[in-house]
Amino acid sequence: MFDQMPEPGGFLIFGVLEIHIDKEGVRRGVGELRGLGVEFRQGVRVGRDVLLGELIEGYDAVLIATGTWRSRRLRIPGSDLPQVHAAMEWIVDYHLWRYGYRGERPPVGRRVVVVGGGLTAVDAVHVSRWLGAEEVHLVYRRTREYAPAGVKGFREAEEAGAVVHELAQPVEYIAEGGRLVGVRLQRMRLVPVPGEKRPRPVPVEGEYFTLPADMVLEAVGLIPTPPFNGGDYGIRLRRDGTIDVDEYKRTTREPVFAAGDVSHGPSLIGPAAKSGLDAARAIDRYLRGELGWRTG
Ligand SMILES: Cc1cc2nc3c(=O)[nH]c(=O)nc-3n(C[C@H](O)[C@H](O)[C@H](O)COP(=O)(O)OP(=O)(O)OC[C@H]3O[C@@H](n4cnc5c(N)ncnc54)[C@H](O)[C@@H]3O)c2cc1C
Repeated sequence: MFDQMPEPGGFLIFGVLEIHIDKEGVRRGVGELRGLGVEFRQGVRVGRDVLLGELIEGYDAVLIATGTWRSRRLRIPGSDLPQVHAAMEWIVDYHLWRYGYRGERPPVGRRVVVVGGGLTAVDAVHVSRWLGAEEVHLVYRRTREYAPAGVKGFREAEEAGAVVHELAQPVEYIAEGGRLVGVRLQRMRLVPVPGEKRPRPVPVEGEYFTLPADMVLEAVGLIPTPPFNGGDYGIRLRRDGTIDVDEYKRTTREPVFAAGDVSHGPSLIGPAAKSGLDAARAIDRYLRGELGWRTG
């Protein structure tokens, strides 16, 4: 297994917080795999330190399970201020520091605004508080009933001390002397759209408010990160950037399989693990000569 991080486990170690998952359980699982003969090569970024093509040449089968290791970002005035961070990368940095892989503690503001409504947003609230933020505001453009983190996640954020602002969307990060001092938000309302599961947030014209802030953590979605440029190796990507796989997790290039969030988009531990197990079974059948390659 080739992995860019200093320790195996992916988001189970570097994303999900230890209040939500038993990290020692994950580490025991990795230990069991080592015992079975799995060789872990840490700190190797495929696409940079080794090319996917070399793995395709060198192995009988390859599984891509590189997840969604890039944050979607808001593009609004002030986005490039150094106090505006991508929440997932910041949480990964926190874990690198927490587990002793990096000496430097990630920066935290006194007044933090977290943008988003998913698990990463809720976790960004927790970590901000743990690192000493005095005030944390969570802003989300819909209402909690429609948030990926759900009513439960929002309650958890409130219990961690966040002030929640629903139906609000940042439109500008305000700076003074090159430093962030506040977030200007526009009020939103929800409009049902036929055929869509969730109502669409639309701006309420002329209605704005400002939150004072010295740090922003954007948690507005994660992007699939296949370890190659789109189109390379004949591996087809879907429009949303996920790797196109069939029911046996076969990509459009023999003998490359793909599983987990990189093949179905950001999800949860359960579906990602199930997808990996399905891929493992398919690879086993493929290596035994019981499964051919897809045609389309
Ligand atoms: C902050 C946060 C909190 C979350 N909380 C929860 C939760 O409470 N409950 C829940 O069920 N789910 C949660 N999730 C989602 C869950 O962690 C993911 O759905 C799941 O881990 C996806 O598994 P995966 O194996 O597909 O990818 P990942 O766990 O993302 O693993 C991908 C692996 O690929 C490696 N990699 C990526 N690119 C390369 C490359 N080019 N070369 C080498 N290695 C590479 C990474 O280092 C990583 O080890 C959370 C996610 C985040 C970010």
